Amino acid sequence: MPKISILPQEIASKIAAGEIVERPASVVKELVENAFDAGARYIKINLKEGGKKEISVYDDGEGMEPEDLKLCYKHHATSKIKTLADLFKIVTYGFRGEALASISQVSILTIKSKTENQETGYEIKVEFGKEKFFKPIPFKKGTLVKVENLFENLPARKSFLKSARAEVLKVSEILRGLILCKPEVACDLYSEDKPLFSWKSGDVKELLSYITGLKPSDFLDITYSKSPYKVSLVITSTNHTFKHTKYFYVSINKRWIKDEKILKQIMAIIKEFFKNLGFPAGIIYLYIPPHLIDINVHPAKWEVRLKDEKGVFSAIRNAFMKLFKSSFQTYVSSNVMNFEKDLASKDFVKEDIPVFIDSYKDLVSLEDKPKKVHQDRKDAFETSCIYPISFERPEEYFKILGSFLNNYLLVEKGRELYIVDQHALSERIIFENLMQINNFFTQQLIFPEALNLSEELKEEFYKRKKIFEKMGFEFEERENSIYLKGVPDLVEDMGKEIIEELLEVPFLEEDFLKKEFFAKLACKLARKKGDVISKEEAEYLIKKMFEMDLKTCPHGRPLYFKISESEIEKKLRRIL
Ligand code: ADP
Ligand code: MG
Repeated sequence: MPKISILPQEIASKIAAGEIVERPASVVKELVENAFDAGARYIKINLKEGGKKEISVYDDGEGMEPEDLKLCYKHHATSKIKTLADLFKIVTYGFRGEALASISQVSILTIKSKTENQETGYEIKVEFGKEKFFKPIPFKKGTLVKVENLFENLPARKSFLKSARAEVLKVSEILRGLILCKPEVACDLYSEDKPLFSWKSGDVKELLSYITGLKPSDFLDITYSKSPYKVSLVITSTNHTFKHTKYFYVSINKRWIKDEKILKQIMAIIKEFFKNLGFPAGIIYLYIPPHLIDINVHPAKWEVRLKDEKGVFSAIRNAFMKLFKSSFQTYVSSNVMNFEKDLASKDFVKEDIPVFIDSYKDLVSLEDKPKKVHQDRKDAFETSCIYPISFERPEEYFKILGSFLNNYLLVEKGRELYIVDQHALSERIIFENLMQINNFFTQQLIFPEALNLSEELKEEFYKRKKIFEKMGFEFEERENSIYLKGVPDLVEDMGKEIIEELLEVPFLEEDFLKKEFFAKLACKLARKKGDVISKEEAEYLIKKMFEMDLKTCPHGRPLYFKISESEIEKKLRRIL
């Protein structure tokens, strides 16, 4: 049964108009999306002169019947929507019936197609908008669209096209993003009949590995659902990051998008977790019910409008949170990240755990309360003493050589140089010490602070209230509002912020919330980049690090990296 009809004017006029065809890569995008919509399992693309001379796309999808073939290149000819209401619940890649129409106006377009039920295939040829012929041909099931002499009738547009090489690159870039949204489809890209990209269909990690050159096992994955949203992340950990975001893709309902506003927000979330370690490679798959998203805003559909941005971004944040939580386990297998193992090892020295804690000072030192040393940095490490690591290992020593940019401690141990992130280390030590505390003293606030909670967060609050109270928080309820009345003594004026952050954590287990609380508190109390720290404090921190064999901060980022004497020698021996 024929499937295409021409959209009535009242619907056509509501469709975001604009330039669809800019260059060969945009033609390829439209044709591949049509193949996806036709249910293709295999797509083959061939370019001649970077697509400027010819682009052909074959797919093994459902094909078109002769009536549809005659109609498909007309304006607003589509099989994908019928009524105005359909425009608000789009589940296909296309819906405007404008791609083939636009392409046919600026090229020589030939389409061959056959459906499963037909005896024979058909071919149509349209030159710069005019139908040249239509005839039956022998053809296998599926559709072949050939676009020749793009922009030949528009020399000004043609002159904007880049070199064949540049256009080929653009096409392969587009193809990667498209196929990442549908890795179950196989596809081959040829240029001048030479294979450039060949994907046999399969697992998205394999595809990401093929695209980035990393290993499939370098990608972590996690799915987080909170009705009505679902977020799947398949990304690298902080072990494999990039300075650019070229290998980072965002897909909404299996559609690759490049919406600046959405990307910016996602990058901000990534920054929260990856800090200054760069950007991960991988893809975020967002699933949003069609009625909560408008894709009818951009001619090439790169941009979308979200009806509930806050909900979507909070789901994305929670997905990252979940990934970072679960990746604690994953990292154990890697030699840099050892967070869970650190936590699990019971044999670290506990004798000097502070009992009464009222500030940062108590958390990092015992007798000597280190002050921030606001003196010349030279003085901070005037004498470089040798310290034994522990009584159990009297043969092991370390020597603090100094500080680099008041940010990294330089430590000699064995025949290796350790470069240690002072913020991360102080954060981890505080965290470890906090983990030892069972009872917090509650400090009453003089002015109880109202929490700003939506109905949804209020519900989360009641689920966690008991745990918060165990941690030392006290609340009071007045006139339908929740007030923070007391906080654990270290928390001081950060109580409201911490509670609100803990309500976003997608887990309810007491242990996990407690760890998150301590990690947040540790981060807030820790030494910052650029803080000058005293020799005593540095000594304390480094000693703890070696004693307890700590390798990562509470969120799994490495505390240090080390260079051996032989590595240094190797570097210095190399002849340039
Ligand atoms: P849209 O995709 O927005 O509907 P297009 O101009 O891209 O508009 O395509 C018009 C119609 O042609 C589609 O709705 C579809 O019915 C049909 N069509 C296009 N390409 C294919 C294909 N590769 N296989 C089957 N049908 C196709
Ligand atoms: Mg289309």
